[in-house]
This record gives sequence, C-alpha cells and structure tokens, in this order.
Amino acid sequence: MKCIRCKAPAHVALPSHHSGFCKDCYPLFFTKQVETAIRREKMFTFDDRVLVALSGGKDSLALMLELHLQGYDVTGLHIDLGIPDSSEKARKKVENFCDLHGLTLEVFEMAKWGLPIPDVKAHVKRPVCAVCGKMKRHHFNRIAVEGGFDVLATGHNLDDEVARLFANTLRWDTAYLSDQGPVLPAAEGFVRKVKPLFRLSEFETANYAFMKGIEIHSDPCPYASGASFTGHKELWGELEHRSPGQKFQFYQSFLKTGKPAFAAMEKETGATLAPCAECGSPTSAETCSVCRIKAAVRESKAKDAG
Ligand code: SF4
Ligand code: ZN
Repeated sequence: MKCIRCKAPAHVALPSHHSGFCKDCYPLFFTKQVETAIRREKMFTFDDRVLVALSGGKDSLALMLELHLQGYDVTGLHIDLGIPDSSEKARKKVENFCDLHGLTLEVFEMAKWGLPIPDVKAHVKRPVCAVCGKMKRHHFNRIAVEGGFDVLATGHNLDDEVARLFANTLRWDTAYLSDQGPVLPAAEGFVRKVKPLFRLSEFETANYAFMKGIEIHSDPCPYASGASFTGHKELWGELEHRSPGQKFQFYQSFLKTGKPAFAAMEKETGATLAPCAECGSPTSAETCSVCRIKAAVRESKAKDAG
C-alpha cells in the first residue's frame, strides 16, 4: 500500500478511512482529525484557556502535545492518586513530558487532600474504580472552575466513547445517554468538557504517540479489574475488523439521532443543583458525594484506629 498523500510506502494502514500514510504524512492526518473535531463541535478557540487532564497514558499526552503544536493555550493537570509505585511512575512520565516540551503543569495530590486511592480501596465498599473515577472528575472540574479555565479537555478516543456508549445502551441508561458526547456544555459550577480525540481510534492515537516519540506510562493500574469496557472494546474490535468504519458510524448516528431524543426525555427530570456545603461543588444533596465519601473514610479509619 502507498501513502495516499505522497505515494511513498505506507507505514500505517487505516481501512476505516480507505487509506494509508507514511511516517511523515501520518501526523498530518492526526492533526486534521483533531482540527475537524474542534471546529465542527465548536470545542474551543485560540482565545480560550484549555486545561488538559494528563494521566500519563498515550491519549492524554498525545492530546496535550497536539493542542500545543496547534498553538492553543494549554495547561496540563495531573492527579497523583497516591497508589504506591504506580502513581509515582505516572507522575514522573507526565512531569518529564511537560519539561521536555516546555508545557505548564499543575499536579494535585490526593494524599495531601486527605484521601489517597489506597484508602478508598481499604475503606469504601463500592468498586474502587467507580469511586476513583468520581474523585478524578470532581477535582478536574473543581480545579478548572477555580483556575478560571474555559474548558477541560480529556484524551478519550473513539474506542473509549464507543465502549461507553455500548455499555450505556445495553442498560438503556437514559441519563448517561442524554449526556454522552464529545462536548458537555458548561453549566452553573461546571466547566465545559471536550474530547478532541473522539474521531480517532486507540490504534490511531497510539501510532501518533509512538511516531512523536512520546514516553508514556503504560503499566496497568494495580487496582484495575477486568472492567467490562475491555470486553466491549474487544467486541467492537471484531465488528470493526469485519466492517471498517462501523465504530465511527455507530457513534456519529447516535449523536445525530439518539442523543437529542434522550436529552429531551431527561430535560423533564433534571434535578436542581446547589453548592456543596463542604467544598462548593454543585450537588443535588447538602454535601456532594465526594465530600461524603471522604467523611466516611475518615470515620472508618478512626474506628479502625480505635
Ligand atoms: Fe483509578 Fe481504577 Fe483507573 Fe486505577 S484503574 S486509576 S483505581 S479508575
Ligand atoms: Zn463537596
């Protein structure tokens, strides 16, 4: 196969785009996809301050580098979860990456805030990943709001989005289906959230990260349990193999026809939000779920101590 841009031997084959690219032209394809996502979904402009959530994995680092190269005003935010060994390694990768490219980075430490993830694992009965995800979303939003950022960008790719959409559809979870998409608009107490990599698959992002020589944190989190999303991604991998382009079509059709219908249904039942009495984040209860979890862990630790 030849590169469809310059006719040199193709290095990456992309059946879903009926094309292939050489090493030099592939990053241009990636850039185009990110540009299209930002423009068509009106994610942000060059005047906006963009906070990018950086885990240390290939998606978030590829996103940060690409937005920086396109000239956007980006600041990285890494949450140090306090998981022995794993969190130290992830943080080092993010710090080295930002140093190398001269990028501004903020680091938020869960341990200093009083709730490292190992404490969640030891003291909360719910699955650790559900609570960890909630904590991360809470702090990403809070820090973006407090820092006066216009938008929070995350590295979710097409495979992440399709796996989540599939899971939500299997449960016909109308609340999540009404919200899912590449842009979640700002609301009182919530910054706008965007996913500029939603047009790109995991494979496509991994290729970009590799070609740009990005050193990523690839060790799995020691607390990761074979999450259902992994199974969903495998199923979708099979479907995509049989019918290239299926993933993107499924997602795009949902955005066009499914999401508006679910959003209309949910509009009727939306809860009223007010600031959390502890931290000020929007919540439908007196204190938000994150503050309640923190208090419960504190109590449980005190009980254990004696
Ligand atoms: Fe948090 Fe679970 Fe991800 Fe580990 S695998 S970082 S515990 S969400
Ligand atoms: Zn709170």
